[in-house]
Amino acid sequence: MIPAELMKEVARQVAECEKCALQFSRKHSVPGEGPVNAEVMLIGEGPGFYENEQGRPFVGAAGKFLDELLAGCGLLREQVFITNVVKCRPPSNRDPLPEELAACGDYLDRQIEAINPKAIVTLGRFSMARFIPNVRISDVHGQASWVKGRLIVPMYHPAAALHQPSLKSTLERDFKRLPEWIEQSKQSRQSKQDKTPLDEPSLEVPPAPPKDDEPTQLSLF
Ligand code: URA
Ligand code: SF4
Repeated sequence: MIPAELMKEVARQVAECEKCALQFSRKHSVPGEGPVNAEVMLIGEGPGFYENEQGRPFVGAAGKFLDELLAGCGLLREQVFITNVVKCRPPSNRDPLPEELAACGDYLDRQIEAINPKAIVTLGRFSMARFIPNVRISDVHGQASWVKGRLIVPMYHPAAALHQPSLKSTLERDFKRLPEWIEQSKQSRQSKQDKTPLDEPSLEVPPAPPKDDEPTQLSLF
């Protein structure tokens, strides 16, 4: 299946999914949205009130701030793919439970495979923990790491800045560096491809080192 079809299939399955208890609190599931060839994928926590009403990610106050953060680094919402670690709204916006995160994880994995983004921005600790467990967001926010060949950039959740205004400038600063990380990711992938013999299909080339499970911090700047 081509990526666009894979994405449609995930959205179809999410719409009628009964894999966890969040099916009972949803009005609309929120599979995510954005171009299938997006360079950047942003992954939040889960739908809130407005997202559940509309079936679209980040359409409330946190979404408005996210749009500003993207604009601050020269990106439009229409250029990025935005989704969440759980696709249905937890009751009263409570934290997603481990079993809900586990049940929904396969949809996210398939979306990442289909889009194959240059960089994945995690928004908040639940999203970060999927890729980089056992770290504190206050220690690693804004610093990119390679995890299993993918560039992960953990950021605070935009909603956190609405409750704690001091985080606003931190988020703004971290987002400003996003274009550098994207460029770095492109160069790493390109240098891998340059080393590939011509008769090998370049799509088979793993995007970037390293391949082990431990995140490797980039210290470029
Ligand atoms: N917060 C999230 O984590 N995701 C959304 O889609 C909206 C708010
Ligand atoms: Fe299915 Fe995910 Fe919704 Fe749970 S949160 S019902 S796993 S789509």
